[in-house]
Amino acid sequence: MSRVEVRGVSKWFGRICAVYELDFYCEDGEFLVILGPSGAGKSTTLKLIAGIEGCDTGSIRIGGIDVTKLPPHKRDVAMVFEDYSLYPHFTVRENLAFPLRAPGRHIPVSEIDDRIRCVGELLRIGHLMNRYPRELSQGQRQRVSLGRALVRQPQVFLFDEPISHLDAKLRHSMRRELKRLKAELRQTVIYVTHDYLEAVSLADRVIVLKEGEIQQVGRPDEIYRAPKNAFVASLFGTVPMMFFEGRIIPNYGGRPRFIIQGAVGGSSANRVLQCTLPPKYSSLGERRLILGLRPSEISLEVVGEGCDDNLEGHVYAIQDLFTTKLVTVDLGNVMVEVMVPSPTEIARGQRVAITIPDEHFYLFDPDTRNTIPLSA
Ligand code: ADP
Ligand code: MG
Repeated sequence: MSRVEVRGVSKWFGRICAVYELDFYCEDGEFLVILGPSGAGKSTTLKLIAGIEGCDTGSIRIGGIDVTKLPPHKRDVAMVFEDYSLYPHFTVRENLAFPLRAPGRHIPVSEIDDRIRCVGELLRIGHLMNRYPRELSQGQRQRVSLGRALVRQPQVFLFDEPISHLDAKLRHSMRRELKRLKAELRQTVIYVTHDYLEAVSLADRVIVLKEGEIQQVGRPDEIYRAPKNAFVASLFGTVPMMFFEGRIIPNYGGRPRFIIQGAVGGSSANRVLQCTLPPKYSSLGERRLILGLRPSEISLEVVGEGCDDNLEGHVYAIQDLFTTKLVTVDLGNVMVEVMVPSPTEIARGQRVAITIPDEHFYLFDPDTRNTIPLSA
């Protein structure tokens, strides 16, 4: 009923292309998150859907109706901004009532009161109704700002980084509240953020945006497991993916090998760093590659002096994060980070070997930075 469809939408500001040929949909009742760094075109995308900006190309449909040429107030969407934009001289109740009293809405006073009461309970701000914005905490202000969108009961909610500027603790609790609201309301929501944790904890599906173009669309777990390119891979994960340039030798004693470039002729007695790749990569032929590894997907074990495995080195640093330890291993001018369970006994300077399970190799083309398809 309130499905949003964006087809071939582009927007230029002078010579700057803010978004280019966007194609996506948000199902009725779906919570869709657009994830991307600052300047990716996230806010522009929401403004185009809200009608605050006009499309240069393409079309937008909401609930089956083409709204491309409709003004904002005829689109039945509500947008929540990062900077709450509350009226400072209005109380919380007046701020909530304001959008319902807009000319042309003709909502009876009794219904306005009902809606404000409901939203007050839902957002747990009922006791704040007679306060002014200056008398509220940051988190309370953000709730009122959410409330102002909720009372309108629009077809679609557009959230522009609504909790990004809150401190870490408040962000954590607001994520939880948003998750609860999502479950209780089952509304169509398009939510924009640059924060990976927000994206994966809230989204039914995620759209990854970079420089105005969609990089990948999918469920958070799908994107995590199979990122389409190095950019997407670098966004997904609580500790960033590591990238190593090098080349593949398809048949090195029967298995494909990856030779890490930076390590060739390294400080460690000219050791050439290499690792065995899963057999499926032997079809790739000899070529340059970027290898991606996630600290959380590889493991290490303490080994004795004199072992001669290739992915061996010394513990360079240990960051104890209490539930886990982030161990940096110096492999001889290449550093690798490994996330290990906290009880692991490990000390600086110890000799360790790294193990990479077959399913956790990520290979990218060094020129396009796209994931290398196995049929190539
Ligand atoms: P995000 O919200 O992802 O940070 P924006 O959608 O705000 O990104 O901006 C995308 C690009 O468009 C940026 O390069 C930005 O500078 C540019 N842009 C956005 N709005 C305007 C505007 N009103 N005038 C000129 N350039 C703009
Ligand atoms: Mg923005």
